[in-house]
Amino acid sequence: MARRPANPISESMDDYLKAILVLGGSEGKKVTSTALARRLNVTPASITNMLQKLAASTPAMVQYERHHGVQLSSAGKKRALEVLRHHRLIETFLYEVLNYPIEEVHDEAERLEHFISERFEERIAAKLGHPKFDPHGHCIPALDGRMPKDSSMRLTDVRDEGTFIIDSISDIDARILKVLKVRGISPGVQLRVRDIYEDHGYAVSIGSSKKILQLSQADSAAIKIQPM
Ligand SMILES: [Zn+2]
Repeated sequence: MARRPANPISESMDDYLKAILVLGGSEGKKVTSTALARRLNVTPASITNMLQKLAASTPAMVQYERHHGVQLSSAGKKRALEVLRHHRLIETFLYEVLNYPIEEVHDEAERLEHFISERFEERIAAKLGHPKFDPHGHCIPALDGRMPKDSSMRLTDVRDEGTFIIDSISDIDARILKVLKVRGISPGVQLRVRDIYEDHGYAVSIGSSKKILQLSQADSAAIKIQPM
């Protein structure tokens, strides 16, 4: 029996599509190469290369013009949502069923997301009771690709004292996830901004505690919040 040809969409193409989806937000804003390079930790030259490849594929996965940023096509968006659904369901499964520490689920999901079958995905979703959010607080796209509009804001956009609910924590940096977990900073928790430092770090407190926690700029940038 002949071997099935390799999937024309490579794992690294999937990673690009997913990054463009996440960075472009629910309105599908144009994403710059610089933002992509930072997110994917690759050089600008490889970004250009891959975006040209994605734009030239049939069907085209992105609309890309050099120096003008990149946007997903409808085929690209469909694929990206599928991979993102895999990723976030796997993270939830690892966290809730297999008891992985929160800071370890992302890397494992990055590997597994490309390989699970639709059947496996369905079984995970059913086992977890069709969750709407992953353990970082991010929305899991529905099977038909629907995803509610994200109305959260970055902690680093807050300019005054105030009380918020933590919406999500970025899953990209395991070290930051661990630092925040130890301090009780996780989705659904109430967060009070007490002060903003000159270096763009934040002084916050959690729940009804009066203890001041100092967050660096990088820690703060990983946190998204909703007004109370
Ligand atoms: Zn993740």
